Amino acid sequence: MRQQRMGRTRTLKAAALLGLTLLVTACGTNTNGNGDAAAGSGDNRITIVTTISQIADPISVIGGDKVDVLSLMGPGVDPHLYNATQGDIAKLDRADLVLYSGLHLEGQMNEVFEEIGKTRPTLAISESIPEEELLKDEQGDIDPHVWFDMDLWKQALDNATEELKQLSPEDAQYFDDNRSAYFAQLDTLNAESKAKLAEIPEGKRTLVTAHDAFGYFGRANGIDVVGLQGLSTEDEIGVSDINDTISLLTQYNIPAVFVESSINPKSIEAVIEGAKSKGLEVKVGGELFSDAMGEAGTPEGTYLGMYKHNVETIYAALSGGGE
Ligand code: ZN
Repeated sequence: MRQQRMGRTRTLKAAALLGLTLLVTACGTNTNGNGDAAAGSGDNRITIVTTISQIADPISVIGGDKVDVLSLMGPGVDPHLYNATQGDIAKLDRADLVLYSGLHLEGQMNEVFEEIGKTRPTLAISESIPEEELLKDEQGDIDPHVWFDMDLWKQALDNATEELKQLSPEDAQYFDDNRSAYFAQLDTLNAESKAKLAEIPEGKRTLVTAHDAFGYFGRANGIDVVGLQGLSTEDEIGVSDINDTISLLTQYNIPAVFVESSINPKSIEAVIEGAKSKGLEVKVGGELFSDAMGEAGTPEGTYLGMYKHNVETIYAALSGGGE
């Protein structure tokens, strides 16, 4: 279903990109590699452009003052459906390094990555994770929401860090130190989260959300997950998906379902209504950050803060009440 949306816009975009690429080759100098250490040339920061903020935030911590990081997709933005704008193309064109998640998360941007990758390192950071560690749906499609397993996300960030070291070998130790310190914070939060979520009573360990973004989170924390929509928001939601979910809620007496900041809440609302018509009171357990993080400058605007928010929200909604 998802592949056949080719059409005119894509061709136009490819043409526009090609134009830009030509321009770059004509007048651009890229700072890639090749020897003579003309180090004194003023501001040597590496300009990094990422798709999702789940990459931008950690890599700005690891890169520290040696990098400028810009994320194309802000709060509330759905990466599955996102198309690059002309402004994005201009930003990508100024990047020394482009980092995206990959595994078909940014499904509409493949041509853009292909073009931009001709002139600078362009890396799908999740695609370095060994396939046997990744989840697949019944159709065999790989689940791209890898940032919800911190151990896997560390592998993806390792991949990005190695690329930074290639671009600036003299800062390798600095990047390594920053990475170790940051990973220690991730490990602490990971352990705290697992301990907290383990307190949710056995019969209540089911997480129902609008789309299937929490598979890795569920695997890492021993929680069953149900998404109304498949792995991508490009998938259709059928009436049967909604009905199946309502039966499940009724059967297991699940107290809460969750909305996501980047997804229209109406399918989740339909589930709540449907459950009510069967005499089951289900509440909205809160808003989770799935594919987008919170506003910059708030705790949820960081990877650690957004993860913590999700853990606390899920814990509060599912652990409350009986038994
Ligand atoms: Zn998603």
